[in-house]
Amino acid sequence: MGAADTPSYAKHGPWRPSDILGSFADSTAEDVALAVDAAATARHQWAQLPAVARGTILENAADLVRDRADVIASDLTSEMGKPISQAKGEVLRSAAILRYYAGEALRPVGEMHPPTVARQRLYTLRRPVGIVGLITPWNFPIAIPTWKLAPALIHGNTVVLKLARESPRTGLHLAEALTDAGLPAGVLNVVTGSGSTTGGALVAHSEVRAISFTGSVPVGHLVREQATARGCRVQLELGGHNPLIVMPDADFDRAVEAAFVGAYLAAGQRCTATRRMYVHTDIYPRFRDALVARIDRAVVGDPHDARTEVGPLVSESAMNDVLAAIDRGREEGGRILAGGARVPSVAGHLVAPTLFEDVAEDAYLSCEEVFGPVASLYSFTDVDDALERANGVPFGLSAALFTRDLELGLRFAQEAQAGVIHINSETTGADIHVPFGGLKDSGWGPHEQGRSPVDFFTDVVTVYENA
Ligand code: NAP
Ligand code: MG
Repeated sequence: MGAADTPSYAKHGPWRPSDILGSFADSTAEDVALAVDAAATARHQWAQLPAVARGTILENAADLVRDRADVIASDLTSEMGKPISQAKGEVLRSAAILRYYAGEALRPVGEMHPPTVARQRLYTLRRPVGIVGLITPWNFPIAIPTWKLAPALIHGNTVVLKLARESPRTGLHLAEALTDAGLPAGVLNVVTGSGSTTGGALVAHSEVRAISFTGSVPVGHLVREQATARGCRVQLELGGHNPLIVMPDADFDRAVEAAFVGAYLAAGQRCTATRRMYVHTDIYPRFRDALVARIDRAVVGDPHDARTEVGPLVSESAMNDVLAAIDRGREEGGRILAGGARVPSVAGHLVAPTLFEDVAEDAYLSCEEVFGPVASLYSFTDVDDALERANGVPFGLSAALFTRDLELGLRFAQEAQAGVIHINSETTGADIHVPFGGLKDSGWGPHEQGRSPVDFFTDVVTVYENA
């Protein structure tokens, strides 16, 4: 959507950077205001529809996303470089999320309480918040817009969705599926464009009552500051620096594969990617050799090839940031065991899966999120020490432990400072029907997915109904 004189920008892909994939609106503050007006006009009718009717639209959209999965996945791969097999999985996940939230229409809302006086009904209702703003990153360009949109819509809100500049086409496929599924005009309004201008205008708009944001910690904290200053509700899902701890009694092969998958799939461009691997000294040399061997076997290259495991980084500047972080890791005393450079002789923004060791606890790589295929190995002898180091960052998104010791697993579930905890599985991956979100700097407000979003996308009111 956009006014007639809205400027546009050309979108290039990460694998053949000279190709232009499309031209998209660089939405202005006026466009955002038009989008909010449309959402305001549609608001009352949408809120008054029975939730089941809203659910039918989500269900139909789920079918359309599934039917169109090959086309959507191919566009997703072209615009942000996620290998096609992983892209297809993400698109099907989007369909599953739509279906799950369609089902929310049939689950109970509100609570009946015992009255304190005669001839009274005392109960709570959940009402839509109104117009909500959703701001999404490029790294899960359909799953994240879906897991914000589906609960926002089923709970009766109208929406302005700001898609990431690097992945507009994929998100527009989702909007098209919803429109084709029968979503009334004005209920969902999509804006593309720059973070500061388009996103900033949405955060600042006085009629937007809630902002759900996924992205990096610094931008998220800025959005929180701006939105809360005007009394707007905020939910944040932000970056991570996710640890994996491997005990000597672990299933060794499973742990090595989990380290590889967690660190390098989607070229490490996942908020839950494994960044730090703490491996017990008894198995450290063997683990290091096995992981390096797994990295050597990795299929790295063209993201459109169905066999590819690790594809390019989303943009030239993202690649340059990752290469600069690798240089810094080396300068600060880290030793490279695998990768460490751009893959030569391809035009795409391809960085080889990179593994470090001997990285100091206070080095950049140990402390800051590097959003690419870069991870560091550390050894430990005492599990208390491993836990303390794993927890010793301001992030708190996901954490994994490999062990056969049930007692230790229970302790980890209590003490790991992360919103998503994996015992004997990689740090990445999340089921759609359970809450997902970070602690500490990694999150703010109710978690997403599962039944948590009802707390964000509705207002609770208490009704004293006296006969
Ligand atoms: P980002 O740079 O923080 O951007 C996220 C979104 O915010 C984009 O749509 C961006 O627009 C927009 N934006 C930028 N500046 C803004 C501003 N001043 N006001 C309002 N909106 C603004 O993050 P990213 O680079 O897209 O994504 C990678 C980051 O997301 C990583 O840190 C990753 O860990 C995190 N992430 C977290 C989760 C989670 O669930 N916890 C999931 C996925 C990713 P532009 O696209 O135009 O810049
Ligand atoms: Mg960014």
